[in-house]
Amino acid sequence: MKTIVLDAGHGGYDYGAVNGTRYEKDDNLRLARLVAADLRRQGQKVVMTRDSDIFIPLLERSIISNNNNADMFVSLHRNAFINPNANGAETYIQINSPPQNTRYAENILNEIVKAGGLVNRGVKSNNLSVLRNTRAPAVLVETGFISNAQDNADFDAHIDAYAAAVTRGILQSLGLPYNPNGGGYPANRELAAKIQRGLNQTYNAGLSVDGIYGAKTKRALVRALQTELNEVYNARLSADGIFGAKTKNAVRPLKRGAKNNSVYVLQALLFFNGYNISVDGVYGAETENAVRVFQQTRKLSADGIAGANTFEELFK
Ligand SMILES: [Zn+2]
Repeated sequence: MKTIVLDAGHGGYDYGAVNGTRYEKDDNLRLARLVAADLRRQGQKVVMTRDSDIFIPLLERSIISNNNNADMFVSLHRNAFINPNANGAETYIQINSPPQNTRYAENILNEIVKAGGLVNRGVKSNNLSVLRNTRAPAVLVETGFISNAQDNADFDAHIDAYAAAVTRGILQSLGLPYNPNGGGYPANRELAAKIQRGLNQTYNAGLSVDGIYGAKTKRALVRALQTELNEVYNARLSADGIFGAKTKNAVRPLKRGAKNNSVYVLQALLFFNGYNISVDGVYGAETENAVRVFQQTRKLSADGIAGANTFEELFK
């Protein structure tokens, strides 16, 4: 397992580039959270320099990376220019950094361009604090221009693909394979195995306890939810492991304070979607926060309450 430090540029009173009511700091954090989830699904350790809208000094960002002995540092930004026609993606490395850094920056940039929309402006070098003071190979990514309407439309339309692209570029650079089926290698294989054992014991799921989140484990979680909805709410669903319209309609919203097996299923889903939370069946502050972040990244209303839409997204 490698350690990747993700740095969502700017934050707090440092808005970064601004276009009307759109702030670079928000775009950076949105993308960073998606990349973090992707990388965790691929079994890697991720440290985020910030996971909320707070100000972090530039030097502090490098120190976080250095203290975590990161294998790679990736800073996520969006570009801006006076001329609104300027557009496209580019990556930066520190001037005079080793040749491998150029390859790393190319890997990420090529993947982003392949994901669609943004044109390739190439790898550039500059003297930038976060790159200069970070010991790990460091790349700064400019995911299109916030000053360009089409780049913003592409950013919004393809943000999941860009996150997957950054993830692929990082994995390539670190010599790691990319598993296209959502990875299935959670950062905490032990917890993954424990969840599978729990599903076997309580729902007779018949899973092999391998700690891998594949199609069978996902199906077992749908079945567990269906079973709970039948038992607690007499939903009369066939427990077939398919999250269809009937199951979606039968979902009862879960919120803070709830304590039952459906919460356990929710937490397991969050965990397998890359959230590092305890899976104990108790809907506390940690679960609520994870639900809220997940809702934000999936453009659902971020109320911290897990209803039908949230479950539907989690099962995707
Ligand atoms: Zn920036």
